[in-house]
Amino acid sequence: MKLLYLLPMLFLTACSSQAPKAILSEATATETFIDEPVTSTGRYFAYVPSPSILIFSETRDWRHEEGIAGANLAIMKAAKEMGHGYFTTEHSGIFNEKDLARFDVIVFNNMTGDALTPEQELAFAKWQSKGKGTVLLHGAGDDSHQDWSFYHNELLGATFVSHPMAPQFQPARVEILQPTHPVMAGMPKDFMAIDEWYTFDAPPSDDFIVLAGLDESTYSPVNTVYGDRSDLRMGPKPVDHPIIWSRCIGDMQARVVFNAMGHRYESYETEETLLLLKNMLNWAAKKTDPQSQGCAK
Ligand SMILES: [Zn+2]
Repeated sequence: MKLLYLLPMLFLTACSSQAPKAILSEATATETFIDEPVTSTGRYFAYVPSPSILIFSETRDWRHEEGIAGANLAIMKAAKEMGHGYFTTEHSGIFNEKDLARFDVIVFNNMTGDALTPEQELAFAKWQSKGKGTVLLHGAGDDSHQDWSFYHNELLGATFVSHPMAPQFQPARVEILQPTHPVMAGMPKDFMAIDEWYTFDAPPSDDFIVLAGLDESTYSPVNTVYGDRSDLRMGPKPVDHPIIWSRCIGDMQARVVFNAMGHRYESYETEETLLLLKNMLNWAAKKTDPQSQGCAK
């Protein structure tokens, strides 16, 4: 009954000259914000120290709420220890030439989906070609970035297939395959971690250096819950199942390092993963490897 009384009122409101305008302008503003990020050169300058680490976690596909929060906190702490500034944002408007110039390293913290416009992707590629560093975490390496071929092929270099679902999170042994690489400085030769373990269609090409791999005998690489592939094995040896890899690109040796671990908040609380994160940031910023020895195959 109440609804019947309300209907004529709603109709009248919608037809009045005042109310619909307000509703329309709100909706338009929201849509503009989500679908057409503003290229806002200078918008952030007053607040961002330089050099800094840009931590970007916009999601247009699966959102790792816990992983994003855990990584943001851990990266901010690491940045302070490195003497770097940091800036976290989920707004891709910062991907313009002038704003990106303030950053040495960009972390794609569980970024998913088509988060950047073509112009913003070009601004990133131009920034990166100057020898800058990029760190990709977990969801940033899933299969939702294939529209951006440079990112998918040159930065990531492998196509995500699936991960176990029953159970989703399992302990597994990670083996360090390049113990002398700066990203692995201070790391034990292997360690156990609990995570959502990604499987890829194949290891990355020889352009990349596989730094760590997964021992499939220590967890159940199976997903019978969804998808058309239940057997998620890549091979019996850790080198067959890469989990962390890096690459140096171009004359300026721009660096990129990807860690497929990092779904959970707790993923960023263990001693090993915190050291790894700090090493990745330092290496990407060319702080620990100024001669690019970690780029040599
Ligand atoms: Zn995940």
